[in-house]
Amino acid sequence: MKIVTLLLFVLFFYNSSSAKLPKTTIPDKLVVLTFDDATASQYSIVAPLLKKFGFGATFFICEFPPNFADTSKYMNWRQIKQLDLMGFEIANHTRLHKGPTKLTADQFKAELEYIENKCDSMKIPHPVTFAYPGYDLNIQAIEALRKKGYLFARAGGGRPYDPLVDHPMLIPSWAMNSENKALVMESFAEAKEGKVVVLTIHGVPDIEHPWVNTPPELFASYLQYLSDNHFKVIALRDLSKYVDSKKALEQMVPDLSKKLKN
Ligand SMILES: [Zn+2]
Repeated sequence: MKIVTLLLFVLFFYNSSSAKLPKTTIPDKLVVLTFDDATASQYSIVAPLLKKFGFGATFFICEFPPNFADTSKYMNWRQIKQLDLMGFEIANHTRLHKGPTKLTADQFKAELEYIENKCDSMKIPHPVTFAYPGYDLNIQAIEALRKKGYLFARAGGGRPYDPLVDHPMLIPSWAMNSENKALVMESFAEAKEGKVVVLTIHGVPDIEHPWVNTPPELFASYLQYLSDNHFKVIALRDLSKYVDSKKALEQMVPDLSKKLKN
């Protein structure tokens, strides 16, 4: 009798777990574009181009040291507010681009709260998504983000996001640079069968960090391709239309053994 009860118990939890996580069917050709580090070109080049195509996107903001105040290199907060007014998502990338493994729990919280408070003071919606600086992450950071009510956090890994398998605080992405057009084009083809393609992009161009530079002409050609082929291009927060993040956070265990860096 006891064994039967145990079996029923196991069957119940098996049936109510990951198989029912997505809210709705994820459409094919769903792409999330995310832009890191608040480079000046994201305001001057990226945002107008995205608007031209009617695409959504997330901007992961930090005050990148030591040159954040140099407006030839980085956006200022008035420009960041403009991106919000244009309908883009403003999200958290820590204040000083510091990975949680190099910080105490309190320091990591303070790094998050600086950006949150800045958004609040600028009347930008309180951030609900996060990107790990340099893909540096640990369980403590995941727990801190969950406690603060974040819905999704972006890592690396070079594979599509599968809501049935990937934890909402470990969303995989591909990184874009000037040399990897073939890889980026291959990644777009993976947006199918319930999987979402997420891209990590830096400056377009990126003056301070040439190894993550994307030339504007190359970037424009990607947007043209996505538009011509009827992709839906959204911000990371928009995944909540398709994925019940709160439920996934309750049910899924973060698996740090997967590849999570690019
Ligand atoms: Zn960054």
